[in-house]
Order: sequence, then structure tokens, then C-alpha cells
Amino acid sequence: MSQEQCYLKDQKWCQQSTIYKRNKSLYRLQTEIGHGSFSVVHVGYHELTTEKVAVKTCNKQTLTPRARRMLLKEITIMESIYHPNIIRLFEVLETPTKLHLVMEYMPAGGLHSKLLSEGKMKEYDAKIIFAQLLSAVKHLHDKNIIHRDIKAENVFCGKKNHVKLGDFGFSTVLTKGKNEELFTLCGSLPYAAPELLQNKRYKGQPVDIWALGILLYFITTGQMPFSATSVTQLKRNILLGVIPMPAHLSHPCITLIRGNLFSGSILKTTPSKRSNLTEIRNSVWLSNIIIKENTYGKWCILPTIDHHERRTEVEEKARQTLLTYGIDSKILEEHVMKGIRSDIIATYRIIIQNILTSIYLPTVTQITCEKFDHARSHLCVII
Ligand code: ATP
Repeated sequence: MSQEQCYLKDQKWCQQSTIYKRNKSLYRLQTEIGHGSFSVVHVGYHELTTEKVAVKTCNKQTLTPRARRMLLKEITIMESIYHPNIIRLFEVLETPTKLHLVMEYMPAGGLHSKLLSEGKMKEYDAKIIFAQLLSAVKHLHDKNIIHRDIKAENVFCGKKNHVKLGDFGFSTVLTKGKNEELFTLCGSLPYAAPELLQNKRYKGQPVDIWALGILLYFITTGQMPFSATSVTQLKRNILLGVIPMPAHLSHPCITLIRGNLFSGSILKTTPSKRSNLTEIRNSVWLSNIIIKENTYGKWCILPTIDHHERRTEVEEKARQTLLTYGIDSKILEEHVMKGIRSDIIATYRIIIQNILTSIYLPTVTQITCEKFDHARSHLCVII
């Protein structure tokens, strides 16, 4: 990102900020992490907080109208989400030619590469990963958001067993209370639910749940449940829904993935027979996992401006840190309207995320295998 592309436009803050004199870019781009069909992602360094961020850059001139629509949807959806297991969007910077999405950086890369290099996970690790993803998807579905591209490549790994779901390029928001059906075919074929392959309208939630099932199979076996040498054969196998189960998988895990004649499961080819998130959460396989959910709030996205509303300790702490950069409450609250387009709000979000990660990560660290190996009554607390 050049200086010109990423310069800071907020004169007011420049003048008012006594400690940080901004005459240069707030983000310094470092190495390239990877690239997608219409984007390139770099590790960036946020100069104020010294935190690393992921900067996804798209060239506006080469974006097709569809890609542009998808990107705008991705921004709108990511902007509305705050959850410990979902990648945070901090800021959007726009120049005449480029669009930069500044996101939370996940240092350990994608789950897909991890599984390819390290092989399948032990079930106790898989449970920790899967429970976090369930929590993330539940948060999305509660907000009527359907991800539509859940796959190992879009699950990012942090420290220990902490994972986050990202890449909202295919996601969509359902109209509340309308029992809406979707028709756009999207996502990745190996994770595609059978109903997607039948060229019919489909319900959103079961499609995400099916993809979670494929992901669970991949995590616990290191293989995909449906494989073939051609696209046509792969589609046929998915529609048939015959799933081989390796002998090493535990009975509760097999029941959750494939079920039996009498029980529902995740990979039921008929969407109405597929388990829902609550059933999955209450499955025997996950019965020794306790999730302390959703301690995040709206204040993660924007600072509380209603002076009658009590601020959380985390927000207070973030505001204290902002003060050390010369950003007082007045400046911060003036930027609330700019939201995702404000570098000050981005700084607030980065600080909030940093505090939350430092609070919650040790909790995830506690869920080590010893508990599983040494105690039969496991207790895992996540997030
Ligand atoms: P496509 O857009 O074609 O589906 P993609 O989703 O892989 O491809 P990007 O979202 O641009 O494309 O991501 C490119 C690469 O950058 C990915 O391989 C991913 O591993 C990495 N990446 C993306 N976001 C982050 C992040 N927040 N933290 C760490 N790595 C990331």
C-alpha cells in the first residue's frame, strides 16, 4: 500500500493529537500472505498499537460487477459481526483505484494447510475447534446471516486451539421472519450440500450445517467424505451420501456425522432431516465441552456514546489506551458516525480486540489434552 493510497485524511485528529503526529500511513504493509481471485492479502503493521493486521487489497478497476457486489456485502456483513470466533474487520480504506480491508490477522494461517501438513486431529482437539466454529455459526444464524462458504480454507488458526471463521465473500443476510429460500449456487463443491446440486431453491442454515459436517469429517479423519476423479462423479457421490467411516472414529463422533437409521446427524442428505445447531451442540460427542458464549457486545464495534449506558471494563481500558495516543473521548465519539471508514474507530477496535484476545486466549489454553487424558469427566471452557 503506497503512502498516497493509505494516507490519513483526518486533519482534525492530526491537529488535536498531541502525542501521535500523523504525517504517514497508519498501516505498513509487510509480507504477502496469499491471494484470492480478485484480492491480495498482506500482513500489515498498525503503527499506533504496533499490532499486526491482515490487509486485503482489491483493485477496483479489475473487479467484475459481481465481485464488487460480493465485496460490498462482505464488508457490510463483517462490519455487523462481533464474535470471538469470527475474524474482525477493523477498517476499510478506499482510494480511486484500490479498496483495502483491514482485518484481524491470524498468525497460524488456515486450518486447511494445518491439516494437510499435520494430518487429522485427535478427537479432543477436534472438539475444541468444532465447538468454536459451532458458536461462530450460531452467532451468524441468530443474525440471519448465512456464510455459504464454510470450509477448512476459511477457518483461521490463532494461538493454541483458537480458531476463527473468515471470508464472508459468499455470505448473505436472510430477510427476518420470511422463511426465505436462496437460489445462488456458491461455495466450494466438496463442501456443497446435496440440495445445492439439485438446482432448486434451498434454505440457508442447513447448507452451512452440511459444510460444518464435511469440515468435522475432514478435521477428524484428514480426508474428505466424498471424493472422486471428476466433478460429475463427485456430485453423484454427494447426492448419494454414502460416507465411509474410518475405524478410529469414536461412536459418538460417527453418530454425529453420519447418524444411524434412527437418529438425525449433520450429513443427512435431506435438509429437513439434518440436525440443527442446537442438536449438534447437545450431541453426545460434544457433551464434555462447555462453551461460555458471547461475552462480546456492540461496544466491540463502536464505542458507547450513550452516556447513560454503563461501559464495560474492556471499553474503559481501551479508552485509556487511546488517551495515550492523544485520542480522547470527544474525538473518539465524533468518529462513531464514520464507522468502518474511520482510522480512529479502527484503532479503538484493534485495541479492544487485543484486550479481548489477551483475556480469552488463556482460557482456551486451559483446554489442554491433559484434562482429556487424565480425567474422564472432562471440562472444557472455551472463549
Ligand atoms: P477467493 O477470494 O478466490 O475465494 P481466498 O478467499 O483464498 O480466495 P482471500 O480472502 O483474498 O482469498 O485470501 C487470500 C489468502 O490470505 C488466503 O489464502 C488466506 O490464507 C490468507 N488470509 C486471508 N485473510 C487472512 C487473515 N485475516 N489472517 C491471516 N491470513 C489471511
